Amino acid sequence: MTTKREFLKISLVGATALSSVGALSTALAEDKSVNHVNETIDNKQTDIVQKPVVVSTWEHGLSANRAAWQVLSVGGKAIDAVEHGVKVPEADPSVMTVGYGGYPDREGKVTLDACIMDENQNCGSVAFLQHIKHPISVARLVMDKTPHVMLVGEGALEFAKSQGFKEENLLTNKAKAAWQDWLKESTYNPVINVENHDTIGMLALDKYGDLSGACTTSGAAFKMSGRVGDSPLIGAGLYVDNDIGAATATGMGELMIKTVGCHLVVEMMRQGLSPEQACIAAVERIAQKLGDYKKFQVGFLALNKSGEYGSYCIQSGFNYAVTDKSGEKLLDAKSILS
Ligand code: ASP
Repeated sequence: MTTKREFLKISLVGATALSSVGALSTALAEDKSVNHVNETIDNKQTDIVQKPVVVSTWEHGLSANRAAWQVLSVGGKAIDAVEHGVKVPEADPSVMTVGYGGYPDREGKVTLDACIMDENQNCGSVAFLQHIKHPISVARLVMDKTPHVMLVGEGALEFAKSQGFKEENLLTNKAKAAWQDWLKESTYNPVINVENHDTIGMLALDKYGDLSGACTTSGAAFKMSGRVGDSPLIGAGLYVDNDIGAATATGMGELMIKTVGCHLVVEMMRQGLSPEQACIAAVERIAQKLGDYKKFQVGFLALNKSGEYGSYCIQSGFNYAVTDKSGEKLLDAKSILS
């Protein structure tokens, strides 16, 4: 059995020497509810770069990818593709976990978090932003036009207005009804609930071989006022290193924040792991470190410099959309719990 210390040593020498990413610790290895994934690992390494390609979280990623593909397929840049792509669910009121029509917090306010990162390590972010339908475009302007990375709350709103964004009511009747229903009991129990989370995180590799990513969300439904999740936090909900790869996340943001999950995924790819292996390693880090992880969902999605992608999650049920020259598909992620 591989001890934790031995695993760390192995991971430093790279994926080829790594016989089992699943055998991280005795506790995990002996836990019958945990899937042991050594047979399922895609250890393929290739020199052929598959580009352009765009991947994004959940089924609403399909329509978002279509918009991103409009940019990528005509030679556009990954950074423009990811911004264009995630604006689709931001504007779609039927997606109740992102942008306009998103579930409000416990005070009935729709508060949005988003971030974006390009191939030059530039990044921009907004958090606790209200009344603006496209937080990702405000994040883009924080990146492009300010010396800062992150603006929050009133400051983010004032900045958005200064850039010409109009204030709008983002609380749809449907989201308001769901909130009023929740108010009857007002119990906040952010367990597995796959319906009440569903951030869009998108990663793209363009024809020039450059990577970028975007992540945008209304956060956990009926969250405490002022709560900010992983999605606007560079390193937690999104990370891009143009030499290596990119990663994004969805699910209970507190778990990604505690482990700086997306940075971890990219660093695992730097050590030679495939995107899927890197996502497995990050979920297993959560499982090792955070005792209550079985109550929650977390899904990681990664794309490397060769255009290879992979994913992994805690609970089954997370899927992701992939679009490239061959078309589009929706894939189910493997999970650590059955
Ligand atoms: N990660 C988001 C948050 O915690 C929500 C989600 O993706 O489900 O705010």
